[in-house]
Amino acid sequence: MPKVALITGIMGQDGAYLTRHLLNQGYIIWGARRRSSQDSQWRLEELGILGDVQLIDLDLLEMSNIIEAIRKTEPDEIYNLAAQSYVAVSFSQPVYTSQVNAISPTYLLESIRVINPKIKFYQASTSEMFGNNGAEIQNEESVFKPESPYAISKLFSHWMTVNYRKSHDLFACSGILFNHESPFRGLDFVTRKITSGFSMIKANKLPFLELGNVDAMRDWGHAADYISGMHAMLQQPTPDDYVLATGKSHSVREFASLAASVCGWNPEWIVKEKGEVCLDRKTGKEIIRISPKFFRPVDIKVLKGDATKAREILGWQPKRDFNGLVIEMMEADLARQKL
Ligand code: NDP
Ligand code: GDP
Repeated sequence: MPKVALITGIMGQDGAYLTRHLLNQGYIIWGARRRSSQDSQWRLEELGILGDVQLIDLDLLEMSNIIEAIRKTEPDEIYNLAAQSYVAVSFSQPVYTSQVNAISPTYLLESIRVINPKIKFYQASTSEMFGNNGAEIQNEESVFKPESPYAISKLFSHWMTVNYRKSHDLFACSGILFNHESPFRGLDFVTRKITSGFSMIKANKLPFLELGNVDAMRDWGHAADYISGMHAMLQQPTPDDYVLATGKSHSVREFASLAASVCGWNPEWIVKEKGEVCLDRKTGKEIIRISPKFFRPVDIKVLKGDATKAREILGWQPKRDFNGLVIEMMEADLARQKL
């Protein structure tokens, strides 16, 4: 009998890659999407797998949707990837963010407990929960010091997942994933904002790109690599929590400089009277302006993850490196502009 997986957030970046991975493993996939996401099916379309999944309407804010989806699809595994996933938005929508990211996973866990406690559950947790904790590198034992409503909401659902595992014996795992990107990343996240913005500058559709804190450092991996780790967590004899990360950290500035060179520019960062800019040295054209508009009330300076536990127990490690990721994302956006 093929296994059945129910994936919330199937229309997002990770949902698309996870669906492809599980289809390759012979799973039957039920994809839960909210009604407003009908334009977001482009990722499944680009992967050529839209026709291979059964879709079910589910808004995470409606507990009745969750109960009906679980009853109808009878899954062996639920991957809860749906979220208000953008940190910057969480400062202006803290209540909504908490409802979707903290309360809804609790609905899911409670529904599993009542309907069928044998269903395995994956919760998409995040390195944002570590915040500025002062540690040079973070693992499953590191202190959590969340710095945004997004991180706080995700920490709530992380602990709820741990608690349902301990108190109700559910097979519930929390994957603490560091930033992972790809050509399918949402346009608001800095990596894709850069690659998509640069491709629009090259196509003469945008004069220059505006960014915020380019000194922030993140441990950026490739989303396609992280998906097998999520699946592996649910295939272990016992449930547990795992960090997935590359162990290397780079600044937004480095990401932008490398992407600029893929575009054929020769980037130079200089401070002008109006603020810092990045120029193409060859032509003198400004490609980036730093704008206070994109700074956050509180930001995380540096994130770097230690995925030793995942490597030793799950046999997981990332295959792609930072340079390869930037080049792939930049080339994909140039191709989208037919450049
Ligand atoms: P995306 O933002 O690409 O996808 C999130 C999905 O959630 C979207 O398809 C969105 O639907 C859906 N969604 C949002 N609100 C609701 C709701 N109320 N009901 C139903 N669906 C909803 O995120 P990613 O794929 O990048 O990330 C997947 C998960 O992993 C998220 O939970 C994220 O917070 C977490 N995570 C991601 C990291 C990363 O670097 N990518 C790092 C660590 C954790 P719609 O298409 O309609 O907008
Ligand atoms: P996050 O790590 O989940 O918040 O992922 P993001 O891609 O949204 O942001 C990564 C880092 O890039 C954060 O420290 C942001 O402050 C920084 N950053 C700098 N400029 C921008 C920008 O214009 N947009 C976004 N999204 N982030 C920016």
